[in-house]
Amino acid sequence: MKVVIIGAGVAGLAIGWKLAVGGAKVVVLERAQVGNGATLVSGGMLAATAELGSVSSPDADFARQANALWPDFAAALEAQSGFAIGYRRNGALLLRLKGEAARPEGPLSGERTALTADAARQMEPLLGAEIENAIFAPHEAQVDSQALCRALAVCFVQAGGEVRATETAVRFELTGGRVTGVVTPFTTHRADAFVIAAGAWSARIEGLPPEAVPPVVPVKGEIIVLSPPAGVAVPSHVVWGNGVYIVPRRERVLVGATMELAGFDTSLTKSALTWLRRQAEGLMPSLKDWRLSEHWAGLRPAAPDGLPLLGQSVDGLFVASGQYRNGILFAPAVADVLSRLILERIAVDPAFDPRRFAGTKSPLIVPQTPHKEGGNGAWPTVS
Ligand SMILES: Cc1cc2nc3c(=O)[nH]c(=O)nc-3n(C[C@H](O)[C@H](O)[C@H](O)COP(=O)(O)OP(=O)(O)OC[C@H]3O[C@@H](n4cnc5c(N)ncnc54)[C@H](O)[C@@H]3O)c2cc1C
Repeated sequence: MKVVIIGAGVAGLAIGWKLAVGGAKVVVLERAQVGNGATLVSGGMLAATAELGSVSSPDADFARQANALWPDFAAALEAQSGFAIGYRRNGALLLRLKGEAARPEGPLSGERTALTADAARQMEPLLGAEIENAIFAPHEAQVDSQALCRALAVCFVQAGGEVRATETAVRFELTGGRVTGVVTPFTTHRADAFVIAAGAWSARIEGLPPEAVPPVVPVKGEIIVLSPPAGVAVPSHVVWGNGVYIVPRRERVLVGATMELAGFDTSLTKSALTWLRRQAEGLMPSLKDWRLSEHWAGLRPAAPDGLPLLGQSVDGLFVASGQYRNGILFAPAVADVLSRLILERIAVDPAFDPRRFAGTKSPLIVPQTPHKEGGNGAWPTVS
């Protein structure tokens, strides 16, 4: 079987790897370079609890399923590619500040433990005096999403896959209602199956009937990276609170992320930088002395209901998009369900059916961060 996948982000590469290992001949088309989209700028958190809580819902269940696949997925990627991907399952602290309403947590279990502020500060000495209490989620993990993409690309190519960088999928060709080709500036690729894994740009490939176009909208996110003064250790855990998260990565911390409907704009804004710094300093006051070393922006792919879009769209065409805030976490599960659907016709959870909005008008409901109101202050140098 020949499969053409559009997009070399975490989704396209993970699906491609799984399909290639399963015996398919796979080509991934990427309009820029591997990991060029949201995957590159992601926080890399595998945050099933922090993002989706402890209730049962289609996406929370899928997140837990993905989380359970991660240890083997990471081990196989590292062993086969020869690259470390920074996978660490060392838990996350979910903080509540003084004066903040309690999170609707549900019953605590072995998955989450309640901590006093002092106990949280013992785990993370940089935490300030404003902490009221915390929850420790020991199963939360993280991965270096940039290293992840490189390792995925290596594994995919080793398994016989082909990445065609700087080749944009422009238009699908249909024959009798079935997608039979995709046109790029260089050629028309023919295949038995096509997969749209083009992230926030998934709705932009021409030629499909309207009901088959994945209803994906970009949700902009900005992240800043801070470096410690000499001799100061970075935190050991991912920390959530005050509207942001702090992720230790390679002796620095990532602070993210804004949420904004801004079309396909990925400009870096002073208002986001100021807001992210201020919120993070509300958790760890000494971060005010850390140097800004990078500032990124990217686009999350979101469906109107915030659930992933996974499944068949029209004959010959499959969709792996809409992973929104959890595309890194979901990756091994997305690869599993899409490869089983394509190779073995095993159905995906209907809650993720990419055609579920056909004929309806569904407003996109996205919480946006209030960073635009906090845009004062000098524009510091990024080094
Ligand atoms: C600031 C930020 C922080 C995030 N943090 C986390 C996190 O901590 N944990 C988590 O799980 N998720 C996180 N996410 C979400 C996660 O990054 C995304 O859900 C995930 O990366 C989506 O992966 P993807 O492969 O579907 O899309 P992308 O990574 O965006 O890849 C799509 C690829 O398709 C290519 N492409 C697009 N159109 C075409 C075309 N026509 N032809 C050829 N190629 C095309 C693009 O160039 C791109 O390389 C974050 C996102 C952002 C923006």
